[in-house]
Amino acid sequence: MKCKECSYEFSMREIQDGSPCPECARRAQAAAVQASRPTPVYVKPQEVVVVDFKMSFNSMVWFMVKAAFASIPALIIIAIVLAVLNLLFGGALLGLAGLLGR
Ligand SMILES: [Zn+2]
Repeated sequence: MKCKECSYEFSMREIQDGSPCPECARRAQAAAVQASRPTPVYVKPQEVVVVDFKMSFNSMVWFMVKAAFASIPALIIIAIVLAVLNLLFGGALLGLAGLLGR
């Protein structure tokens, strides 16, 4: 025997018990859960103004040491960028000077 709504095949035990279709009950519950779920609301990111902060001396020392070490790769990157700019513009200026014959 099959359910008229969803063509779920009843087991012999379910037919004997006269129980309602479990597949239809599952679908109804899923629909109810979906309906009760609140629609997501977009929350704008908030701007924060930092007026002051407290930091212990030791934490500050370690923070500064970390910042000093972190600046090493940053300086390497800046050196590479400056070297490339120097190659481009320095070469162009030398070429111009050569064209002018000076
Ligand atoms: Zn059913």
